[in-house]
Amino acid sequence: MTGQTPDHQIAVSFELFPPKTEAGLKTLARTVDHLEAAAPEYFSVTYGAGGSTRDRTAKVVDMVGGRTGLPVAHHLTCVGASRAQIDEQAKELWASGIRKIVALRGDLPEGESLAEDGYHDAAELVAGLRNVADFDISVAAYPEVHPEAASAQSDLDHLKRKLDAGASRAITQYAFDTDTVLRFIDRARDAGITAPIVPGIMPVANFASLKRFSQGCGASIPDWMEEMFAGLDDTPEMRAMVATSVATQQCQRLMAAGVDAFHIYTLNKPDVSLAICRALGLPVRAVTECAA
Ligand code: FAD
Repeated sequence: MTGQTPDHQIAVSFELFPPKTEAGLKTLARTVDHLEAAAPEYFSVTYGAGGSTRDRTAKVVDMVGGRTGLPVAHHLTCVGASRAQIDEQAKELWASGIRKIVALRGDLPEGESLAEDGYHDAAELVAGLRNVADFDISVAAYPEVHPEAASAQSDLDHLKRKLDAGASRAITQYAFDTDTVLRFIDRARDAGITAPIVPGIMPVANFASLKRFSQGCGASIPDWMEEMFAGLDDTPEMRAMVATSVATQQCQRLMAAGVDAFHIYTLNKPDVSLAICRALGLPVRAVTECAA
């Protein structure tokens, strides 16, 4: 049992990251036009810890909202900023029409410590944001346990604190082992967490960089995936088909257990994300030309 309702229309949200260049922004605009074909519930745009992408994130949020008319969630991290700075930024976001925030602590650069006058974790950030305005807030959850957690139980307790502080849902870090995701949802329900838990789905693109990134964030790569993607680095079309199949099967198993929403880490590419949505039965319009 997952405690989530079965037999329903699924909802998807698409995560984007802010490109570094104007050319990248133009490509992303085309990607967004394609992704809109799946009628996502909302888009979300990541934010560099320490505010490193502050202007670029804001620009992408504006661009996506302007092009699609759909809600856009602004990710916000609190490391490296004082409470007053975050509160001020949150007021500005509210004034500019942002209503959805993915509230995160973020990762400190090596050797740095949290600002004394800052929010110390995402639970404090959520409480701070709730004091500023009536944002719809999502927080991060970790089916494979956050690398800094003292234990799986303390990780779950911390997730509950974030939700109790006023977040509406948890979005999970991707985890390729579906049993791990299902067990995590069950444990969360047993711990009294009733808010929606939206699994994050990672369509595999470059397998080598996925492995590097996964080591850093505590997501494991099962052996069967190593085997499945071995030798596909130079055959992007076959890799995309396999990636679609792997993610679709994961979503189908989760749906059979009652999950009704997915957060897709698009990596700013439309093709595999859209193919997954179509395979899951979403009425995705056919797209004739996809950005590479
Ligand atoms: P927290 O939940 O505050 O803490 C992380 C972990 O540390 C907790 O799970 C818990 O185990 C432990 N912990 C922290 N405080 C306490 C406490 N007081 N008591 C007990 N345990 C504690 N990073 C970015 O830089 N930009 C992004 O846009 C971004 N988007 C993300 C979106 C999603 C959906 C996910 C899953 C992650 C994202 N991240 C992003 C990564 C995230 O910033 C890192 O995982 C970071 O290390 C932790 O952030 P958090 O909000 O989970 O922190």
